[in-house]
Amino acid sequence: MIEILHLKKSFGDVEVLKDIDLTISEGEVVSVIGSSGSGKSTMLRCINLLEEPTGGDIKFHGKSIMDGEFNENEYRSKVGMVFQQFNLFNNLSILDNCVVGQVKVLKRDRQEAEKIAKEYLEKVGMAAYINAKPSQISGGQKQRVAIARALSMNPEVLLFDEPTSALDPEMVGEVLNVMESLAEEGMTMVVVTHEMEFARDVSTRVCFMDKGVIAEEGKPEEIFENPKHDRTKEFLSRFR
Ligand code: ADP
Ligand code: MG
Repeated sequence: MIEILHLKKSFGDVEVLKDIDLTISEGEVVSVIGSSGSGKSTMLRCINLLEEPTGGDIKFHGKSIMDGEFNENEYRSKVGMVFQQFNLFNNLSILDNCVVGQVKVLKRDRQEAEKIAKEYLEKVGMAAYINAKPSQISGGQKQRVAIARALSMNPEVLLFDEPTSALDPEMVGEVLNVMESLAEEGMTMVVVTHEMEFARDVSTRVCFMDKGVIAEEGKPEEIFENPKHDRTKEFLSRFR
């Protein structure tokens, strides 16, 4: 579905992504782990065109997303993103947070958009809160709403950037459970995370990023039981 080929990204003189190759197939759950500053967020932001790559290419179903002819708006609606800080619209109700993108970007009529939003809010266990404002719910609930909002756009792939890092520990589980059920249903996901249990137990593949490159990738059991590189070993030892 997504092919990342020799991806490079610099900010000024600083090369943050050096030569990233990664292929994401339908139904895969790819966890991206690595130290702070290694370029994980920048890679996700290049995938959904929040950042413009400075080199290499990214293909979606075989077509370069950097080609002038490529329909960026349509692409963005197919690639959902869930952020560490939720990024909900604080002035809108929970329901409207999940409706507004469908109406504005997908041109769905409001009634249909509400029906779809309610289905996904139900799925993440937030149906009882449709009239609440984000300020009235907990962090874990906000993140579940953010996931429902992303799903309401019927994306082909969901990108998560440390979705549980801003949460109090007691709320991490409720968000991971939602993500795990999405994975079981076959949703294609790329998840930047420090939750090593999730990476080990839910992912189909794990990528370890170090200083702007994917230093090692493989099946979870390979990475966790038998890491090849010293940097991977050292990083994982911090979680033991
Ligand atoms: P991670 O998500 O792995 O912590 P990031 O992708 O956020 O890493 O950042 C990688 C490096 O790129 C960091 O050194 C960071 O300071 C730098 N960086 C990220 N975004 C920008 C930006 N917009 N301008 C300049 N430097 C940036
Ligand atoms: Mg980051």
